[in-house]
Amino acid sequence: MEGIDVIPRPAILARKDASFTIQAGSRAWHDPLFEQQARELVVLLAKASTFELPVKPFIGMPLPASGIIFHVEPDIKPEGYRLDVSSERVLIAASDQAGAFHAVQTIKQLLGPAIDAPASSGRADAWHIPCLSIDDRPRFPWRGFMLDVARHFFEKEIIKQILDVMALLKMNVFHWHLTDDQGWRIEIKRYPRLVEIGSKRGDSQVGGYVSLKRTGIPHEGYYTQDDAREIVAYARERFITVVPEIEFPGHCTAAIAAYPELHCKGKHLAVPATFVTRKGVVCAGKERVYEFIADILDEVLDIFPSKVIHVGGDETSTGTWKHCPDCKALMQREGLHSIHGVQPYFTSRVGKLLSDRGRTLMGWNEVLSSNLPADAIVQFWTGRTRAILPHLTKGRKFVMSPFFTVYLDHDHVLLPLDMVYNFDPVPKNVSIEQQGNVLGIEAPLWTEWVRTTRRLHWQLFPRLLAVAEAAWTPPNAKDYPSFKERLARFIPWLQERGINPASLDKVERCKLRKPLSFLHLFFEPRIPETR
Ligand SMILES: [Zn+2]
Repeated sequence: MEGIDVIPRPAILARKDASFTIQAGSRAWHDPLFEQQARELVVLLAKASTFELPVKPFIGMPLPASGIIFHVEPDIKPEGYRLDVSSERVLIAASDQAGAFHAVQTIKQLLGPAIDAPASSGRADAWHIPCLSIDDRPRFPWRGFMLDVARHFFEKEIIKQILDVMALLKMNVFHWHLTDDQGWRIEIKRYPRLVEIGSKRGDSQVGGYVSLKRTGIPHEGYYTQDDAREIVAYARERFITVVPEIEFPGHCTAAIAAYPELHCKGKHLAVPATFVTRKGVVCAGKERVYEFIADILDEVLDIFPSKVIHVGGDETSTGTWKHCPDCKALMQREGLHSIHGVQPYFTSRVGKLLSDRGRTLMGWNEVLSSNLPADAIVQFWTGRTRAILPHLTKGRKFVMSPFFTVYLDHDHVLLPLDMVYNFDPVPKNVSIEQQGNVLGIEAPLWTEWVRTTRRLHWQLFPRLLAVAEAAWTPPNAKDYPSFKERLARFIPWLQERGINPASLDKVERCKLRKPLSFLHLFFEPRIPETR
């Protein structure tokens, strides 16, 4: 593996002697299906070289004897690829465009960060790829990252920068947490007050959930529908699906601030400055609420082509429902014997709105109940894994995001790099067939304390690289010492994009982890001063 710095580590890799040289006179060939991926590689090379490769289609067999060849092989698994590099040719084989795209990401990493450097660093006359053969495919179809833009808003350029790194790491789901108590961040034309009122707050808490400190600075921001479409298109070019999250019925204070009639008592709430869980829950008994959600989903689904739509569902307080005449009438009408039957009813109504529109519901694990639609996907974040086993074994699909293992908002002391790396999302004692019900891993970053891009990058990196390898690489090919070596050589890829990761000597497990863990949950992680 020496000198082969690819993250995530390929499933099967064999290094050979010698290398392939790309220089003036080299050629690129592609099956018509892979024209876009071949052109992307040629453009990438042209920007950093004194020459430009001619690129031509070929159909059928035999394959060209030399050059860089993109070839369709129908037997290769979805998103997977084969890469055979000899001194005469580079053969890239895949059955779909995502696979060919992933092969290009591997080639990029084999060429090294200089391929991506701005033109000012000088153009090369030749590039070398080591001779090798790689047979690679993802362990999981869901390799995700979630960004909370509700607690703090981030400009779309910052999101694109993250999408670029995700693409290089072969991650394929960007879960966009667009609404929460402290901010509504997506334009809904039918309900303009959602952003006029819901995207602004007067102040923000600093220092942790129990802190009385405030920034004293108003915070605001939202994405227009055109902004969101731009992000969706940008992600799609990189084979990343954007899964939007529009939270209901809890975490809705910003929506209620804009439209108080959504609340059981029509209460006028302000968009809060503090980050403790709020009682911003929409009424489950008023038909008006379901009409509102249907209208919002109509606009959201028009922007986001993702089959899966996340509707939140976590941390819903039932307090206001208990005393609401409409919610009580609902319970009577639907024969719900306990207040705990209300959220499952609510989720099934929202699930129906989505299935009527050809989409699939996804929610946090609080949405699990016996009447959750069969195809709904559950994102596991809290509680014991064994609680989900009965559902998993009956066919329920899960995306695994356990709070203590992949929540990137934790300090590096509470969540060291090796813990993320060694996370295996498949619970023990699950049969081979049932393992397929674990769709993959998603790492969330909640941004209560993430006020700056510097902190965003510090929280995310290098841990996102460990997430990528845990989600892509089969367990038998994972190796932490090797990962750390490759990681150190990956840092220039980040720096080239203006991303400063947390220092590599500060992300390892520390002896004081256990006693300090408790404090780290309540206080804002401190980041070292900019180096
Ligand atoms: Zn109510």
